[in-house]
Amino acid sequence: MTDDCIFCSIVAGDVPARTVYETDAVLAFLDANPLAPGHTLVIPKSHAARIEDLETDLAAAVFEAVADLTPRVQDAVDADAATVGINDGEAAGQEVPHVHAHVIPRFDDDGGAPIHAVAGDRPDLDSDDLDALADSIADATSA
Ligand code: 5GP
Ligand code: ZN
Repeated sequence: MTDDCIFCSIVAGDVPARTVYETDAVLAFLDANPLAPGHTLVIPKSHAARIEDLETDLAAAVFEAVADLTPRVQDAVDADAATVGINDGEAAGQEVPHVHAHVIPRFDDDGGAPIHAVAGDRPDLDSDDLDALADSIADATSA
């Protein structure tokens, strides 16, 4: 619990929210400013600002909830699809510094875009660049 965190305040019951799912570790509630009907946020109950701050078990619990909830949210609003994503850090658009996965129902011809639309200009990378990047990421993740 972090006193000045709005999502911790929701977990504590100090700020109201339209809860749609709850386990010991995870809470999901409707986004107050939805991008689509049924737009749902899935959060770990304990405070973690960024994905890298999540303990492995908690990361698994959050994704389990996302996997469980996504089809149910879609069904509830009769959506055709869903976009699921996390803004991880300010540069990615994260405004609330408590990890949350967005489950956004999507509809045929809703005028939206795929997740590929969120990044800026595409980098110009050749095959050698891609090899080097893959090596560098593999080295970083094998530590
Ligand atoms: P972010 O930009 O951090 O990924 O998204 C934060 C999300 O939290 C936004 O979609 C915003 O509408 C939602 N949000 C911010 N404050 C509250 C709140 O007090 N209650 C609820 N239910 N959603 C909130
Ligand atoms: Zn918090």
